[in-house]
Amino acid sequence: MPVPPVKTRGSPVLNPDQLDQIDDIVGIIRKASYTVAMTGAGISVESGIPPFRGADGLWTRHGTPPMDGYAQFRKDPVGWWNRRTNGKIDSHVMELREALANAKPHAGHFALVDMERIGVLDSVITQNIDGLDEKAGLVNLVEIHGNRQKLRCVECGNRESLGEIVPLFAPDPCDVCGGLVKFDTVMFGEPIPDDVMAAARAEIDSADCVLAIGTSATVRPASGLLWIAEAAGAKIVEINPTETKLTPLSEVSLRATAGQALPALLNALS
Ligand SMILES: [Zn+2]
Repeated sequence: MPVPPVKTRGSPVLNPDQLDQIDDIVGIIRKASYTVAMTGAGISVESGIPPFRGADGLWTRHGTPPMDGYAQFRKDPVGWWNRRTNGKIDSHVMELREALANAKPHAGHFALVDMERIGVLDSVITQNIDGLDEKAGLVNLVEIHGNRQKLRCVECGNRESLGEIVPLFAPDPCDVCGGLVKFDTVMFGEPIPDDVMAAARAEIDSADCVLAIGTSATVRPASGLLWIAEAAGAKIVEINPTETKLTPLSEVSLRATAGQALPALLNALS
C-alpha cells in the first residue's frame, strides 16, 4: 500500500489537530463566494496594544471611563480637548497613546493582507482603533470603532489623518462644513457613524463566510453583526485562544492567536 505524501503545512506553532482545523477552514473559505473577517482586540494584543476589557485590560486596571463620554464632549468640546492636551487626561489614555505610538502590525495582520491580495478574503471589519490593519496594507477595510490616528467631523463625517501627530489644542472646525471635529474613535454613548455602519452591514450582508478573529463578541453593535451573518446562513469560523459566546455558532473554533493561526491559514490557502 503506497504511503500517502506528507503534506507540507509549514506551521511551527500549531499542533496536528489545529492543522486539521486549518484544513477545515480552508474548505469553508474555498466553498464561500464572499469571505469577511471581523477582528477584535485579540489581534492587537500581539502588537503590544493592551485590550480595554478582560483581566489585564486598560479599563480593568485604570477604571472604566464615564459612560457618557460623548455627551460630555458635545457639551464642552473645547474643555474636553484642553483636558486632553494639558496632560489632565485619564491614565488609561496615556498608556494607550504610548502603546499606539510604538505598535506595528504583526504576521497575523500581514497574513490578512496577503489573503485579500490573492482573492480569498473580501474585506475586514475591525473593532480596533489602532490603524494597524490600514498600516499593514488592507484595502477593503471597515474600522467600525474609528481610527485613533484620524479626526472626524461629527456633522458631515469628513475625516483627516493625523499620522503620528498628537494634537496640542482643539482642532479647527471642519474644512468642509464648519462642524465640530473630534477623534474618529467612537466614544461611549456615541453612535457608530452612519457611513461606517452601512459599510459594515453591506459587508456582512454579502458574506457567506465570516472569520471572527480575536474577538470576544461581546461589544455591541459590532458583535451583533456576527449573529446577523449566522442567521442569514453564513458560516462562522472562530479563531480565538479561549471560548467565547460565538463558539456555539461556529463551524470551526480554532484555539489559537491571530499571529499563530493566520500565517498557517494563508500558507494553506496559497
Ligand atoms: Zn464637516
